[in-house]
Amino acid sequence: MIAEVIVDVAAHPIDRPFDYAIPAHLQVLIEPGMRVKVPFGNRKVLGFITAIKETTEFDPARLKPIHELMDVVPVLNKELLEMARWMKEKTVCFEIDALQVMIPSALRAKYEKRFVLNAPLEEIAEPLRIYFEKRPFVRSQDAVEVYGLLKKELNRGTIVADTDISQQTAVKKVRMIHIADSLEKLDSIEIRANAKQQVKLMEYMKNRVGQAIESSHMQKEAGVSLPTIYGLVEKGAAFIKNEESYRDPQLLTEIEKTHSLLLTEAQQVAFDAVERSLNTPKTFLLHGITGSGKTEIYLQTIDQVLKEGKEAIMLVPEISLTPQMTIRFKERFGDLVAVLHSGLSAGEKYDEWRKIQRAEVKVVVGARSAIFAPFENLGLIILDEEHESSYKQDDSPRYHARDVAIWRSEQHNCPVILGSATPSLESYARAQKGVYELLVLEKRAKNQPLPDVQIVDMREELRNGNRSMFSVPLAEAIRDRLEKKEQVVLFLNKRGYSSFVLCRDCGTVMQCPNCDISLTYHRSSELMKCHYCGYDEPVPHICPECESEHIRFFGTGTQKVEEELAKLVPEARVLRMDVDSTRNKGAHEKILSAFGQGKADILLGTQMIAKGLDFPNITLVGVLSADTTLHLPDFRAAEKTYQLLTQVSGRAGRDILPGEVYVQSYTPEHYAITLAKDQLYEPFYEQEMAMRRASGYPPYYYVVNIQFTHEDLMTASGYADQTVRYLQSQLSQSTIIIGPSASLIARVNNRYRYQCLIKYKKEPKLSDVLQQLIKIYRSEWLKKGATLSIDMNPTSVM
Ligand code: ADP
Ligand code: ZN
Ligand code: ZN
Repeated sequence: MIAEVIVDVAAHPIDRPFDYAIPAHLQVLIEPGMRVKVPFGNRKVLGFITAIKETTEFDPARLKPIHELMDVVPVLNKELLEMARWMKEKTVCFEIDALQVMIPSALRAKYEKRFVLNAPLEEIAEPLRIYFEKRPFVRSQDAVEVYGLLKKELNRGTIVADTDISQQTAVKKVRMIHIADSLEKLDSIEIRANAKQQVKLMEYMKNRVGQAIESSHMQKEAGVSLPTIYGLVEKGAAFIKNEESYRDPQLLTEIEKTHSLLLTEAQQVAFDAVERSLNTPKTFLLHGITGSGKTEIYLQTIDQVLKEGKEAIMLVPEISLTPQMTIRFKERFGDLVAVLHSGLSAGEKYDEWRKIQRAEVKVVVGARSAIFAPFENLGLIILDEEHESSYKQDDSPRYHARDVAIWRSEQHNCPVILGSATPSLESYARAQKGVYELLVLEKRAKNQPLPDVQIVDMREELRNGNRSMFSVPLAEAIRDRLEKKEQVVLFLNKRGYSSFVLCRDCGTVMQCPNCDISLTYHRSSELMKCHYCGYDEPVPHICPECESEHIRFFGTGTQKVEEELAKLVPEARVLRMDVDSTRNKGAHEKILSAFGQGKADILLGTQMIAKGLDFPNITLVGVLSADTTLHLPDFRAAEKTYQLLTQVSGRAGRDILPGEVYVQSYTPEHYAITLAKDQLYEPFYEQEMAMRRASGYPPYYYVVNIQFTHEDLMTASGYADQTVRYLQSQLSQSTIIIGPSASLIARVNNRYRYQCLIKYKKEPKLSDVLQQLIKIYRSEWLKKGATLSIDMNPTSVM
């Protein structure tokens, strides 16, 4: 028998399965979807079996055999193997990348160099022998001090170099102490009276005949040490068994069971529509303003799916949203829920994944990659906040979770719900055309009015002499809420953290030496950091260019706002939520739950607080600068601004207390801002569609972004130039090719970046042409140090 294996060598110029012979002893075990170690060139690599067959076009006698089988149960099922092939086509990626992204990172290979003894021990140099006495190999990092000697032996062939492949994270095992199952047995064991610890433990065991108890637990409960337990085990009072267990990511919040709410009329209409289509591969767009009860519909439709004995995937865009969403799902479905998000450790994710694989859970709530949950019997897939760009992976494989969801819905004959208060233009356009079925929730579930949104013209403030980042009306509103003991959310519309250092004498802005981007000031560590390559250096006290001392920090990072806020309202208790304050595991949840419990008056943060917050006491939301996203050089700038403003506004007045929102802006007349004020999605959609039509962007055109990087500027632009000419000669007249041009950030990590853009409506040859381009790249440009990336339907073209 012969196995087709996709090997873990992504840089290899040929992206196809390789044939391997299956050794006789593996023939009964082996199945597609299992991982194997196989020889490749002169090393061993990990591979995925994609098929098993009886014949090969190569000489069967010369096929290399599979070295080792790494799984006893396939890690990928038939559907996922097929999906990898589809993703390869659809996103133009390596099949190995598609396969790897579907499994938890714990299962990805860890390669380790080692030296293996290839002759009797006595034949190698004396000082080396102790290394090989216990085992026939040593790991290269354990033998650093004798490398010289090893090298000599390598040349003689008495020792050979090898790679070992292991999993990154193992199954967690706990030591279980199984107490003997009869009292007579325990009674018959003799313990010396002065062995007080053993006497104590024996008493404990006699009260727990036949039970299995985790050893650490037993140590605590019985108040004895591990050697004492071993002592009694040796005497036959118990036996030890290492058993598999799950890591338990603890939630800070108590889980109380909740039940379905009585749906409002509008919710009922939407629910019925989905319920009627539970066995149809149909996509719904659920357009409901914030607080309109979309989540309640998700919960109840999933409940319906579970009653039919099927499973559901619930995607949420970001980890910051996950704690609250997770809690709502756990409250409803208890232990039937697995959680997969980036806040978990690799081990925890692996455990959650195994629960899915073993069908111990029925619902998964998670970020983008949870779309690959290996359920066999899917009944529903939901994407909440479907417009979020985090659903698209920004490195290979560049897949969009929405596309994968729709593909899976066709395999499983089940519906997809895309939910949003501000659908992406693409999705809304599809709903208009009838490709998706549109479901609408126009009112908030508890009938609360939408918050009252004020737009503050910051130009006016400046004219009146106010130079602070808080306008007079916002400052007054903040003071007012503090007096009333209500809560405030302040939102800094900024990407990440953006204080830079500028010399006021010569105008020098501190730049990363490797990238064309300014360094960012980090107060907590007193470092200047590059957010692209990780470079850092201490904060300078004099200008590196002109040695002036007039060097200062600019920009409005959240820490800066925090300082200003302390001047404005010194008595306020402020919580900050940004990349810096949430770096530690569980930090999001801690900050949110502290705020929920009223331990602070003001929550200050970046876009990560824009979504998901649902606390009754928030009555004021302030957006410090609405313009930041608006002026990004990106065709989605207006759409993103509209989405953000709508979402932030939705945080206020979600319960009984009415909410108020202040949006500060230097361009208050822009339609993305004025229409977001009253959440007028339809007019916004119409106007933005007109803009897109005029400028030839999605959803009127499809876009492909092709980017080259190279250490040498001319080489990078040269390949981009060749590509443009090639595309022009191959693609149809109506297709527009833009470029080549330097990318917005023209250099990262000392590599120059050039790109070109394809805009097309219909391009039947596109897939073939791109595959051909990749062939040229892999056979020629790759060797010369270039990288090529192709991004189909990019979320932005910056
Ligand atoms: P969305 O997901 O659209 O933002 P949610 O489902 O979170 O909306 O609902 C907003 C609030 O209204 C929540 O506090 C939720 O418990 C409540 N709610 C939703 N549906 C109902 C209902 N049918 N009856 C009463 N309260 C509801
Ligand atoms: Zn200077
Ligand atoms: Zn850099």
